[in-house]
Amino acid sequence: MNLILLGPPGAGKGTQATRIIEKYGIPHISTGDIFRKNIKEGTALGKKAQEYMNKGELVPDDLVIEIATTRLLEEDCKEGFLLDGFPRTVYQAEKLDEFLEAHGKKIDKVLDIAVEKEELMTRLIGRRVCKACGATYHIVNMPPAKEGICDVCGGELYQRSDDTEETVANRIEVYNSQTMPLVDYYTEKGNIAHIDGAAGLDNVFTAIVNVLGE
Ligand SMILES: [Zn+2]
Repeated sequence: MNLILLGPPGAGKGTQATRIIEKYGIPHISTGDIFRKNIKEGTALGKKAQEYMNKGELVPDDLVIEIATTRLLEEDCKEGFLLDGFPRTVYQAEKLDEFLEAHGKKIDKVLDIAVEKEELMTRLIGRRVCKACGATYHIVNMPPAKEGICDVCGGELYQRSDDTEETVANRIEVYNSQTMPLVDYYTEKGNIAHIDGAAGLDNVFTAIVNVLGE
């Protein structure tokens, strides 16, 4: 089962990814993780990517494609994978399709978790993270027992710098402008499923299972 997970920041993609890989026994291929791993291990690809990042530049599409597709050749991807964070552009999607076709494979389903901008803003701006253990809370939806203090470890809660109103609005806008063409691309291919991400974590997962089958 070869899957792509799409969803804006705050859509709960991480939680759904964890549940999907557990249920279907496929690896979670997050490009962010692959980049960090390549850089940490000092691979040739990692070194190339690092050069761009050091200059504050975006890693070029072709390098992103090379890094992602190299990962897909590994043994654990034989029975399927869940791609997260890749592809990000139509060009990347086309190259991914070419790569898969060359290996006798295809994308079976693109899961597009959609949430209204207003709801995303509320979710992200209200998010608080524990400085000590990383546990996350929400000032309205999941407040800690004691304001500003982590229930798990007693650590101090803070608001991440990219969770402020201005940054969040920008992150959502960047996501939308990047992803809309991608949604169109897969809509044309007929393999995209739109999931209502506002329905609550359990209902969202049920909807995903309905799409993918038991
Ligand atoms: Zn904590």
